[in-house]
Amino acid sequence: MVISYGEVSTIGGVLMNELSLFTLALGFTKPWKVVEIKFSKESGRLDLRIDFPRGTTFPCPSCKEGECQVHDTKDRTWRHLNFFQYETYLHARVPRVNCRECGIKQVEVPWSRPGSGFTLLFEMMVLQLSREMSIAAVAGLVGVHANRIWRILEHYVERARKEVDLSEFHILGIDEFSVRKGYEFMTAFSDIDASRIVFTGESRREEAIDEFAKDMESRGFDLDGIELICCDMWDPYLNGIEKHLPQASVVFDRFHIIKKMNKAIEMVRWAEQKENQELKKTRFIWLKRPENLTEKQEAKLAELKKLDLKTARAYQIKLALSRFWEIKSLEESELYLKKWYFWATHSRLKPIIEVAKAIKHYWQGVINYTLSRITNGVVEGLNSKIKTAMKRAYGFKKTQYLRTIVYLIAGKLCFN
Ligand SMILES: [Zn+2]
Repeated sequence: MVISYGEVSTIGGVLMNELSLFTLALGFTKPWKVVEIKFSKESGRLDLRIDFPRGTTFPCPSCKEGECQVHDTKDRTWRHLNFFQYETYLHARVPRVNCRECGIKQVEVPWSRPGSGFTLLFEMMVLQLSREMSIAAVAGLVGVHANRIWRILEHYVERARKEVDLSEFHILGIDEFSVRKGYEFMTAFSDIDASRIVFTGESRREEAIDEFAKDMESRGFDLDGIELICCDMWDPYLNGIEKHLPQASVVFDRFHIIKKMNKAIEMVRWAEQKENQELKKTRFIWLKRPENLTEKQEAKLAELKKLDLKTARAYQIKLALSRFWEIKSLEESELYLKKWYFWATHSRLKPIIEVAKAIKHYWQGVINYTLSRITNGVVEGLNSKIKTAMKRAYGFKKTQYLRTIVYLIAGKLCFN
């Protein structure tokens, strides 16, 4: 079916033909208008041809000046939003103009960005869908190869990242996250106050901090603005911090230290359950915070505590350590940690002693917590967003793709 000029319908009492109706609905402005509509039910396609009248002049796309004559035109096609279930394509001859100052230049069309085979509206839809479902699913839904979906996302994400306001960025969070089923790690750098990931490093090596420094400088951010860094007890990070951010105080946050403690408890339990069947299937009882246990788990814990278990001892040491983060005064907290250290190192539980030694080694960073106002909440929240991002990227391995999806999900970007 081809609709041509002359078929008339009315809208709001205004007389207009269907071509102008489409021109209006699609938001085309002068000199562009829809001149032909081809609808094919068999192939499930709607094709719209857009054109400008003969003799139209365009301002130069470089200097924005003048009324330049059209030099020549090139036929191009863009994928547009589906019209119900029909894939919709726009076709137009895109002019090159002859500017007196700049020479021959390609005119930019208002419905698409230069070089893209999609309309802006289509790209906005892809962006929205990608925040809600996996990229493989988005590609399947719109019938476009996933690599092209990634290219769209990359473009908008990079553009939006340049717009992020970093003027209030003073507390930096550095955290590893696992990719490729946990075989490899990348590093997330976050603005803790804004609870936003500002950068991702390719590895968890010292180079990740170099990459971060370079990216921030390219965005006009002065690294001296960072006052506090919240990170894991991980020497490659600390070496990088000393190199690029020597002025900042380092804080080892509660979240990471408790994670280490939980691993240690798990090792103690694993060894002990070989002799004691009671410990089987109790993993989560020891890892959860006491207030988060179910009634059934609470009863089980009470029962286990009666037995003289190494695991229960390790668990008590963890609870004692978590009390450290509730202490408000610096003097008191340091005294408390010293006592805890003595207890832990005399526990005769090797994994626990190792955690205690790590705390001793990074003492100042642990104590610094009392000075800071860093909360675990932000770190935990960002971690769960990264997990979501990794699910969205399932099936794709390219580092650039993983970065893009993390920024999309956890970067608090604005796409206007
Ligand atoms: Zn020009």
